[in-house]
Amino acid sequence: MAQRPGFPLKLDKATPAPRSLKANVSLKPATAPAIPAVTVQSLGMDSIAVRHRMVQKLAAQGLQDPMVLQAMGTVERHRFVESALVAQAYEDTSLPIGLGQTISKPNVVARMIELLREGATGKLGRVLEIGTGCGYQAAVLSHIAAEVYSIERLKGLHEKARANLRHFRLANVHLLFGDGMLGYAKGAPYAAIISAAGGESVPQAWIDQLAVGGRLVAPTVTATGQQALMVIDKTANGLKQSVLEAVHFVPLKSGVS
Ligand code: SAH
Repeated sequence: MAQRPGFPLKLDKATPAPRSLKANVSLKPATAPAIPAVTVQSLGMDSIAVRHRMVQKLAAQGLQDPMVLQAMGTVERHRFVESALVAQAYEDTSLPIGLGQTISKPNVVARMIELLREGATGKLGRVLEIGTGCGYQAAVLSHIAAEVYSIERLKGLHEKARANLRHFRLANVHLLFGDGMLGYAKGAPYAAIISAAGGESVPQAWIDQLAVGGRLVAPTVTATGQQALMVIDKTANGLKQSVLEAVHFVPLKSGVS
């Protein structure tokens, strides 16, 4: 009888190549071991170690909020990318998610969420995300916030995110289809607002829907014409704005499609 691959499947080179499922059920002994394809299934079983390495890299890059690092180590990023890209899921790179959009690289996701949480003790309250995309960042946010409202303007991606997130059964993530430039008034006020798309300016609706004491992080075109991370704190005495490092996000667009 053909020997079954060990559990969990190891991806390191020292491990003999696991036979394909077909080889396992075949009555004839397999002659040559199949080359292990990195699939969602095989990576899924051994992805904890891969994510752990990603988190170590994030920490080495200067990210230090334990709650954010924990969330990044928990969410299975490979479940949000096309199967052909699964092997790259934990590399510090942005990846295409369809309809011309991209999932941000882990470093940028972690950095923005760390900024959202700066100074907070414990989990944030309600968070609004503009640009659900494939749903990855919404899943990460679900671990650092009580409720996540995530809005997407492209129907195809809204549905893709819904399908991707089904597996995780995150009861505190609410996916919305609509124009996020208008925010989502029903969930307001928000402890934090995060945009995954870069606009020419920060829409007034976001400021209006931000709670006093809340923080907004959004890639925005600055005076130089380049995109940079914009942080806006809404205080009892008004708005406090800071422009941080340069970034490259897909454009914030109005309307739905
Ligand atoms: N957070 C996402 C990143 C998606 S990329 C993830 O983890 O995958 C940014 C997304 O913003 C794109 O899907 C794009 O369609 C969306 N977007 C752009 N303008 C928008 C708007 N006005 N309202 C809602 N979504 C918008």
